[in-house]
Amino acid sequence: MPIYEAPIRDFKFALNEFLNIGQYQGKLAGYEDLTLVDPILDESARFCQEILFPINQSGDEEGLKYDNGKVILPKGFKEAYQSYCEMGWGSLTFSQEYGGQGLPNVLNMPVTEMICSSNLSFGLLPGLTHGAISALNEYASEELKQKFMPKMVSGQWSGVMCLTEPQAGTDLGLMTTRAEPQADGSYLITGNKIFISYGEHDASENIIHLILARLPDAPEGIKGISLFVLPRNKVNDDGSVGENNGVSCGSIEHKMGIHASPTCVMNYDKAEGWLVGEPHKGMRAMFVLMNEARILVGLQGLGIAEVAYQNALAYAKERPQGRSLRGAKFPQKKADPITVHPDVRRMLLTQRSFTEGARILSIWAALNMDIRHHHPDKEVKDNADDWIQLMTPIIKAYMTDGGSEVANLGMQIHGGYGFIKEYGMEQYVRDVRITQIYEGTNGIQALDLVGRKLSAHMGRYLRAFTHPCNDFIEENRDNEAMADLTKQLYAGLKSLQQASLWIGQKGMSNPDEAAGASVDYLRLFSIVVIGYIWARSAKIALDALAAGSDEKVFYETKIATAKFFLNKVLPEHYSLLAKITAGVKYLDIPDVDD
Ligand SMILES: Cc1cc2nc3c(=O)[nH]c(=O)nc-3n(C[C@H](O)[C@H](O)[C@H](O)COP(=O)(O)OP(=O)(O)OC[C@H]3O[C@@H](n4cnc5c(N)ncnc54)[C@H](O)[C@@H]3O)c2cc1C
Repeated sequence: MPIYEAPIRDFKFALNEFLNIGQYQGKLAGYEDLTLVDPILDESARFCQEILFPINQSGDEEGLKYDNGKVILPKGFKEAYQSYCEMGWGSLTFSQEYGGQGLPNVLNMPVTEMICSSNLSFGLLPGLTHGAISALNEYASEELKQKFMPKMVSGQWSGVMCLTEPQAGTDLGLMTTRAEPQADGSYLITGNKIFISYGEHDASENIIHLILARLPDAPEGIKGISLFVLPRNKVNDDGSVGENNGVSCGSIEHKMGIHASPTCVMNYDKAEGWLVGEPHKGMRAMFVLMNEARILVGLQGLGIAEVAYQNALAYAKERPQGRSLRGAKFPQKKADPITVHPDVRRMLLTQRSFTEGARILSIWAALNMDIRHHHPDKEVKDNADDWIQLMTPIIKAYMTDGGSEVANLGMQIHGGYGFIKEYGMEQYVRDVRITQIYEGTNGIQALDLVGRKLSAHMGRYLRAFTHPCNDFIEENRDNEAMADLTKQLYAGLKSLQQASLWIGQKGMSNPDEAAGASVDYLRLFSIVVIGYIWARSAKIALDALAAGSDEKVFYETKIATAKFFLNKVLPEHYSLLAKITAGVKYLDIPDVDD
C-alpha cells in the first residue's frame, strides 16, 4: 500500500524562508493574520491524509457508474466532498461578500498540492469549481454573481468548464454550440460538448456550467465565441434547485487514468443561460478560468511527483539488493539497500530536485497572484502580472512533464513491484499522464511561451525573470560557498538569452522556426528558472547553517539537492540550445508531406 505524508516542513521553507510572506503582513489583503498558516497546513494535511488518500486506490479500482444519465462516484467520494465543503477548504480564497474566507492564494496552493497528491481524481472537482468561481467573479454581472457564487463558494453547487467539442479541441474556433437570445435577456443554448470533467456527478446539489457558444451574428473562428453560465437544474426564485434545464450527460469515457473523475459527453437542448462578459469576447473571460486551471494542472503534476517520490524513497531505503561498489555498507546483512547504488540516487535526486523546486515555483505564483490582486502600488502589481503571464505556460507544461517523469522514476525505483497495482506506482503513472494533455497540451503551452509571452511588450515579460536572476548571480559573485552554483546558473542564463534572441530573430522571418523550437525552449527556460530557485534555496540554507540552525540535516540536504540540480540537470541547457538553433529544417518528413 502506498504512503503519503504532507511535506509540511517544505511548505514552511517555501512560505517563510524563500518567499518571506511575513513581509506582507498588514500590507496585503488576506495577509493580516499569518498565525493561521500553521493550523491551516496541519488541518488540511490531516484531511488529505485521513480522508482523501485512503479512497484513492479504491476509487481507481471501483471507478464510476453511469446509469441513464446519472453518474455515481466511487464509494466515499460524496462523503469526502461533503467534509471538504463543511471544513471550508473550497472557500479559503474567496471574498467574504460571497461567503468566502478572504485568505491568500499563497495558502491555497499548498492545500491544493496536498489534495492532488492524495487523490487526483477527487481534486478535479473542487479545482474546476474554484476556476469557475474566479471567472464569474471577474466577468459576471452582480446579479449573476449573487445567483451562483455563494452556493459555489460553499461547495453546495460545483462548477465545470465546457469548451471541447468533437471537432474542436485545441482549435476552439471550430466550435458550433449555439446561443439564441431571448426577449428577457437570457439565451437558449444548444449543442454537444465532450470530455467535460465532472460534467455530471452525485456529490453536489447542482452543477454550474461555464460554456462557450456562438451567438447568431457571431463572426467565424475564435473571435465569434461568447461565454455563458447555465445551471444543470434551474434555480427557483427562492434559490432552491428546480427542474432540469435541458442539460444531460449522454455517456462517460473509459480512460487510462483518473478513473474516479467522470469525463462526460454533455448535451444541451435549449438550456437557459446568461452571457458572462461581452458578446464574442468569451475567450477573454474563459482565459481567467483557463489560466487558473493551467496553474492547477501544474500542481496536479507536482502533487503526483511528491507522492511518487515519497513512496520511491521509502521503498529504496528498505529494499536490499546487491552491494555498494565501494564495499558492503551493511556487511552483517545479505545485501545493502538499493539507496547505495549511484543510479538509484540519481533517480531519487531527480525526483526530489524537481519536486521541491517546482513547489517553490507554484507558491511563488500564488504570491504573485495575491500581489496582482491586492497590492496598492500599480507598478508592483504590474510586475507581478508580468511574472504570472510568463510563468503560467512554464508551470503548466514543465510541472506536468516533470510529474510524469517523476512518477515513472518512482515505478523504476520499485523495479518489478512498480508494475504491480498494490504498490500504487502504476496508478500514479496513469493518473498523471492526462495532465500533459488537457488544459491546452504542453505543445500549446510552448507555443504560448514563444508566440505570446516572449515577444510581448518588447521582451518585458522575459525580463521579469532574467533581471532578478542576473542580479542574484551578481550579488553572489564573490561568495566562495556559492561559486559552484552561480557558475552553472550563469551558463544556463546565457543559453536562455541566446535561445531567446535566436527565436526572436528567426521567428520574425519564419514563424515555423519559433514553433519548431518551442518545446525545447520551454524546457530550457524551465530548468533555468528551477536552477535559480535552487541557487537561492542553497543560499538560504547556507545562511541558516552559518547562523547555527539546529536543523542541520534539513539544510544540508537542501544544499546537496541544489548542487545536484545545478550540476546534473541544468547542464542540459547546452544540448537544448543546440537543438533549438539547429532549426526547423530538421522537422521535414517527406512521406508525411507527400
Ligand atoms: C480526461 C480529460 C478531461 C478533460 N476535461 C475537460 C474539461 O473539463 N473541459 C473541456 O472543455 N475539455 C476537457 N478536456 C479536453 C482537453 O482539454 C482536450 O483534449 C485538449 O485540449 C486537446 O484537444 P484534442 O483532444 O482535440 O487534441 P487536438 O487539438 O486534436 O491535438 C492533437 C495534437 O495536435 C497538436 N496540435 C493541435 N493543434 C496544434 C497547433 N495549432 N499547433 C501545434 N500543435 C497542435 C496537439 O498539441 C496534440 O499533440 C479533457 C480531456 C480529457 C482526456
